[in-house]
Parts: sequence; C-alpha cells; structure tokens
Amino acid sequence: MQDSPQQDHLQRFIFDNAEVRGEWVQLKSTWQEVSKQRDYPAPVAHLLGEMLAAAALLTETVKIEGRLVLQIRANGPVSMMMVECTSDHTLRGLANWQGEIADTASFSELLGDGTLAITIEVVGAKQPYQGIVSLHGDNLSAVLENYFQQSEQLDTRIWLTADQHAAAGLFLQQLPGDKKPEQAENWSRINQLASTVTPQELCELDAINLLHRLFHQEPVRLLTTTMLEFACTCSRERVGETIRMLGEAEANDIIEEHGYLEAACEFCNTHYQFDKVDIAQLFNDSISPSSDTDVLH
Ligand SMILES: [Zn+2]
Repeated sequence: MQDSPQQDHLQRFIFDNAEVRGEWVQLKSTWQEVSKQRDYPAPVAHLLGEMLAAAALLTETVKIEGRLVLQIRANGPVSMMMVECTSDHTLRGLANWQGEIADTASFSELLGDGTLAITIEVVGAKQPYQGIVSLHGDNLSAVLENYFQQSEQLDTRIWLTADQHAAAGLFLQQLPGDKKPEQAENWSRINQLASTVTPQELCELDAINLLHRLFHQEPVRLLTTTMLEFACTCSRERVGETIRMLGEAEANDIIEEHGYLEAACEFCNTHYQFDKVDIAQLFNDSISPSSDTDVLH
C-alpha cells in the first residue's frame, strides 16, 4: 500500500499554566528515506529512527543557522550511528553494525560502552560546539535527558520511538529563569500527564490530537510548526575532496585497474563516477586552496 504524501513536521507548544515548553515531531517520508538506504536489523533501525527524531527536536531548541549532529561511537555490535539535522530543516543519518543482531537486542546490548556526541556547527563560527555524554541509561531518551541535566541544568524529558512507518518524539523542558514556588509542582503534573504517551500514539496521532489526548485539562498554546524533509549534503565536489585525500597515485591505480573510480554516498547512495580526465583535473586543481566556508551547505 502506498502512503499518501505526508508532510513531516515538528510542532512547538507552551503551557499557559506551567513554566514548560514542548515540542512534538513525527517523521514519515524522511524516516522512509533514511531507513531504506541499508538493510538495517530491526533494533538498529529502531534506534536510528529515535536518533533522527531526537536530532529534529534538539535542532529546534538551539535555533541556529548551521547544523546539529548526533553521533554515537560504541564498542558493541553497533559501532557508529550518526544523524544530522540542518537549520534548513533537512535530515539524514546512518548506522554501522557488525554481525547478527537479535530482534530483542536492548539499547545496551546494541551499543555496549560508548559516547554520544552532540555537535553544533554554526555558520561563520570558527569552532563548533561539542558536548559529550556517556551512554549510561536504558535508552537514548535517558542519555539525552542526562545530557540536558549536565549541560543546561534544565529539567528535560524526552520520549522517542520508531516503527517501520514513522519516527517520532515528544520533548518537554522547564523554561529557564527565576523559579516560581509552584514550578516544581507544575513540572511534575505536566510530566505525569505526558508519561502516559504510548509509542503508537506518538507514531500515529497528529499534533493536535496527541496534545489533546495528553493534556486536555491544561491550556496548551501552539507555537510554530516546522516542515522537515530528507536531504543529503553530499556533492561531486566533496567526493572529489575525499579522492584528493586518497592521493594521486592511489587514485590512478584504481583508474588503471577499473577504468574509472566510483564512490557512493553512504547517506543517500548517490554514485559519483570519476574517469581518467576527471582525476587529472582534480589533482591539477589541488593547488587552489580549499575554502573555509565549505564546512556547511
Ligand atoms: Zn549523499
């Protein structure tokens, strides 16, 4: 069955009677594009979907021009997982794994020990911001909540899920500023209501219905809605850069053996082909300095 075109989006909201802000995200076509690039075992796909939803939620909280990257490095069967969300509201991501992975593999069985790095690259900034947190916890939400507790000292709750059709998430955070006496009580009330959310509701309900289902006793004010989509930032020029790093001799060896050099983007599976003339040109041009502005597209 073909899904009707569905727009992936993120809804921001705020509570009138509590010092809490929220975000909800649901990704369908974006998630389809990301998950179809490789034949992911079910638990790996699940975690990758959660990470995609998390990247969308976090990017919306930082309000930058640039990109946010979540990257897991671990010593378990899943050695690397990376998801990127840009301020143009595009997402991409991938995971590397080794061996057979049981359908029932838990978060810690998938990853073992490792870290989650949150990198924020702002256009024009010399240094990216990077925060690193260890993978302690039963799931990605717990790791991210821990990160917010350490880095921003703001109480934050995150619910994430993914199935074959959708990746989705809900985010709640205490507003910064002076604490009011009733703030703790408000936070715990909103949290209790949100905690009843099910993975199925996150993946299937739209924002209005989900917020009504969870918070119908609370006045919720809808803020901006952001559309999101899959897009890859790869290009022939960037692949060319990689070939230059490989070195001219190595590149020519491959050309001699195969007649051409081909590289495929791991995120979107676009194939880039270079022939003998292309390679010669690539190394002739390599005298020109590569510009600093090439970090982001
Ligand atoms: Zn690509």
